[in-house]
Amino acid sequence: MAEKSEQTDAPSPYKDLTLPVMFPELHTEDEGGANTFSSSTCNPNLWNMLHAAETRWSEQSQPSNGNGAEVSVGAGETVIEALNMERQIQFADQKQEFNKRLTKTGRRSLSRSLSHSSTDSYSSAASYTDSSEDEMSPRDRQQRSSKGHQDFCIKNIKQADFGRREIEIAEQEMPALMALRNRSGGEKPLVGAKVVGCTHITAQTAVLMETLSALGAQCRWAACNIYSTQNAVAAALAEGGFSVFAWKGESEDDFWWCIDRCVSLEAWQPNMILDDGGDLTHWIFKKYPNMFKMIKGIVEESVTGVHRLYQLSKAGRLCVPAMNVNDSITKQKFDNLYCCRESILDGLKRSTDVMFGGKQVVVCGYGEVGKGCSAALKAMGSVVYVTEVDPICALQACMDGFRLVKLNEVIRQVDLVITCTGNKNVVAREYLDRMKNGCIVCNMGHSNTEIDVVSLRTPELTWEKVRSQVDHVIWPDGKRIILLAEGRLLNLSCSTVHPFVLSITATTQALALIEIYNAPEGRYKQDVYLLPKKMDEFVASLHLPTFDAHLTELTDEQGKYLGLSKTGPFKPNYYRY
Ligand code: NAD
Repeated sequence: MAEKSEQTDAPSPYKDLTLPVMFPELHTEDEGGANTFSSSTCNPNLWNMLHAAETRWSEQSQPSNGNGAEVSVGAGETVIEALNMERQIQFADQKQEFNKRLTKTGRRSLSRSLSHSSTDSYSSAASYTDSSEDEMSPRDRQQRSSKGHQDFCIKNIKQADFGRREIEIAEQEMPALMALRNRSGGEKPLVGAKVVGCTHITAQTAVLMETLSALGAQCRWAACNIYSTQNAVAAALAEGGFSVFAWKGESEDDFWWCIDRCVSLEAWQPNMILDDGGDLTHWIFKKYPNMFKMIKGIVEESVTGVHRLYQLSKAGRLCVPAMNVNDSITKQKFDNLYCCRESILDGLKRSTDVMFGGKQVVVCGYGEVGKGCSAALKAMGSVVYVTEVDPICALQACMDGFRLVKLNEVIRQVDLVITCTGNKNVVAREYLDRMKNGCIVCNMGHSNTEIDVVSLRTPELTWEKVRSQVDHVIWPDGKRIILLAEGRLLNLSCSTVHPFVLSITATTQALALIEIYNAPEGRYKQDVYLLPKKMDEFVASLHLPTFDAHLTELTDEQGKYLGLSKTGPFKPNYYRY
């Protein structure tokens, strides 16, 4: 009893939050069902749409996974970028300060170099090429869809049917976006929105673009990466009437030309920016600064782009509100823990055909990525050791049933070494020298310096490429280790990122656009905003019907007892999931 009154009287952690609340009431208190929404304070257009969509998805709440189709993805460099920098988020003043900053040159080279690995991950289907493709630059070619649309520049419009199939497959795994799109009534919340986008042009982006379009927006799009465009998807979008300027293998000049073609029209001025990496935003700042008079806001996905926005904000040069999608909790969890838990096995299998049962594995680093990798391998019957420098993560590893060791204690016996620290020289040459014959070495962290691959480029060692992304490094005594992806991110180099992971990000992007576009004057200032917890909870709730999951609703009494609204947010911003 004493405990109860203590809890009830305690100030709600939510009272201190100063984050803008985008969707004040997404759940009703009086309507039954866990995933119902209220029109009372939510943007009415959005509410109508969500309500209709939710109903539809409840009706169709069959797990849609498992269609068996291999869906290719331009493994986003944002997945990688988002994880690169140490950062410290200060919720108190709604701003985030990053304590490590990349130089402009560093960012550019990061952005480009990561693309190489993402291109390796396409399925054979997605790398389809029409034999009629010639080497002429798309810029020099007459472009026209079957319906006479000409305002686009892509590789080959003849691939449109193939691209359409890719998009349809992606739709199956992007339930929340389809829920947003499949609304049955109400006004379109993005009518009048002119969204200029610069993201990876993949089947998943196509689902996002077509969703934005279904909600009333006009879109013009360029690629944020010179290698990641799926040409067939770009063709399907162009055939569908979208103004897309992108192809796989653009030159640096093409890259900026495509961005410019998106924004340089006199007759079409954007009023919203959806960016991934900050290049589009940067280009408009540099070339068309007056355009910002029309722009209502920026939605940015990557850590690099977000970092740039904070710099602009700090310098007092950010002239529109911006949404930081990168740091939403759902995105982080899916990118780091769940995505890696699945893709570590995929990457290892595709590159080595290794059998995991009974293998001795050491995972370096027990953060989100390390936890995912360790759990996956343990589940496959591997004997997993963990190394850590942080006693808290180390204790977590122990409590999860892993043996915490120093690398030198197990390095001679393990069959597989996986780095997930974000640090450098974790597997130094001395460890590589002591590994047993046939040991597989790979990295899941952002940086390709976790394994000291450079130290293996010495005359006494022989390198033998046995297949794409697999090198045998052979010592003079005949011992060989199997190095995967030359120490770059294994999953992005050797497997694919599942569309369900990308669905989380795309849904967050769509909702952020809707919110900024519809926000009343003054709700957002010229600053960078972190997505409110409630919005993260909402994105998650939109994905629950896929699993036929049934969320429990707090009773009035329980809500009062915990000091929570029944409609969320259910956790304070400092809560660590
Ligand atoms: P994290 O900070 O949660 O975990 C890293 C852990 O490594 C920390 O607990 C840290 O204490 C530990 N560590 C640091 N140096 C160490 C050392 N020398 N030996 C042992 N442990 C050490 O980070 P995270 O979210 O797990 O991400 C880890 C890395 O993976 C980052 O580089 C991130 O960018 C990358 N990442 C990759 C993917 C992917 O798809 N492959 C996805 C997300 C993140």
